[in-house]
Amino acid sequence: MKFKDYTYERPDFEKLAERIDELTRTIQDESDIERIQEAIHEINEIKNKVSTMENLAYIRNSINTQDKFYEDEIAAINEKGTVLISSLNRLSKVLVHHSLRSKLEKRYGSHWFQLMELDLKTFDDSIAPLLVEESRLTVEYDKIMASAQIEFDGKVNNLSQVRKYLSNTDREIRKEAMLKINAFFAENEERIDSIYDKLVHIRTEMAQKLGYKDYIEYRYAQMGRTDYNRDDVANYRKQVLDYLVPVAEDIFKKNLKRIHIEDGKFYDLGLEFLDGNPTPKGNKEELVAKAMKMYKEMSAETDEFFTFMTEHELLDLETKPGKANGGYCTYIPEYKSPFIFSNFNGTRGDVDVLTHEAGHAFMAYSCKDTAENPDLCWPTSEACEIHSMSMEFFAYPWMKLFFEDDENKYKVSHMNGALTFIPYGVCVDHFQHLVYEKPEASPQERKNMWKQCERLYTPWRDMEGMPMYEKGAFWFNQPHIFSSPFYYIDYTLAQVCALEFYLDSLQNRKDAWERYVHLCRLGGSKSFLELIQEVGIHNPFADGSIKSIVERLLPVIEQIKL
Ligand code: ZN
Repeated sequence: MKFKDYTYERPDFEKLAERIDELTRTIQDESDIERIQEAIHEINEIKNKVSTMENLAYIRNSINTQDKFYEDEIAAINEKGTVLISSLNRLSKVLVHHSLRSKLEKRYGSHWFQLMELDLKTFDDSIAPLLVEESRLTVEYDKIMASAQIEFDGKVNNLSQVRKYLSNTDREIRKEAMLKINAFFAENEERIDSIYDKLVHIRTEMAQKLGYKDYIEYRYAQMGRTDYNRDDVANYRKQVLDYLVPVAEDIFKKNLKRIHIEDGKFYDLGLEFLDGNPTPKGNKEELVAKAMKMYKEMSAETDEFFTFMTEHELLDLETKPGKANGGYCTYIPEYKSPFIFSNFNGTRGDVDVLTHEAGHAFMAYSCKDTAENPDLCWPTSEACEIHSMSMEFFAYPWMKLFFEDDENKYKVSHMNGALTFIPYGVCVDHFQHLVYEKPEASPQERKNMWKQCERLYTPWRDMEGMPMYEKGAFWFNQPHIFSSPFYYIDYTLAQVCALEFYLDSLQNRKDAWERYVHLCRLGGSKSFLELIQEVGIHNPFADGSIKSIVERLLPVIEQIKL
């Protein structure tokens, strides 16, 4: 069966919620563990059914946003689906306080119970109005960002169109483009500051209502961080500062030399090669055929996975009229099918889709037969990105296939991107800790906090001549700060783990690959640190972890020659 034949049917939310309530009562009253397991099994099936329909509606709507049918279905799901949330909340309460909990933990793992406990502790009807307001404010920020109409190069551009000029080979064009972005932020400064100020206050209020010390503590719980806290993260940032910041600084120095710039400014950092960026060779069909060949040669598991993806037509890659922007990977449980969505545009990003998004999809495919509980399919986000980011590195030996003569240019660009991203990522994280530790700070005080973090982690950024950036407002560019607080560090943690898989693979590819596949098969059955411990990856929070990665990595980087 192909994706187009997968059947969509709007779930009868009321009826399903009633059934969950009924099964929850059985679980509560029952002392026979077998019966409880049967009830949990049926609830899992209901959850998988709903998730299947939600995903089908969402995917089909993003493939064709003009299709009224799926647009209406999504609206109906959003409206009617809330009844299930209340039922599942009652179920969590019953399970967490169950007299047979220890036996159930043996069967389902204690991680699931910890996640349910955190869910219960981070939601209460009393904060519902605040959540609505929070979501309204993040939409307002998105709208401001999407409203940009910047005249440049003889046409009207949105922000992402102007940002493309930041890697132009002409220095004046790069500078002008950045000045335009600065002017846009200057125009909207008060509005953006005010949105963020409200967000910080609302989030702090939510945390206090639920008895947390501050929003930081609340948000860590809400993100399911069961086995590390802000002190661990601070220790990790310190290590990045000590060992990775100098490496990143060196990368930028070499970069500037390569593009013949002596007094490097911030607007010079987007250009890597004077003769243009590495581009993949071939159209969509050819790139997919290359990916087929790569996954066939990579391992038996990836061969089976990618064949499944193509045979069932689970990739929608090319840009088409009416298609939504961006890219993602999701999973359709009842059909045991991952799905990859993207908009190919002839850049390096197209290959990233075939490695990064395919890494996510490979994980979902790997536990399709074992993860019957949808809550334990995907792990928490820092662990999720290990699957995808590691696949980018495991794919290195096939980059010649995609980039031909640009192979090493790609590797330099990819590796430099991975390494320089980490200091920036921890900068974003440190900033948010400062912000939520002092929610009463004024907008200018927050900008000073940003400058303080920037000086620490990204000292190579010379903002001279860019008024808004000099003032400390660069973070206006970073949507996660507004809509997904504290999420950003997750990318960096995953990147560190992915780099370790890569280094291990250079020493013993077979062993590294087997541990990676094992990680994928574990899905979300354990917490972040438990998962990486089980597959022999070091705890990135522990002293010495970043130092050791950097020491192993430096000679490897030296070997990639242009
Ligand atoms: Zn990802």
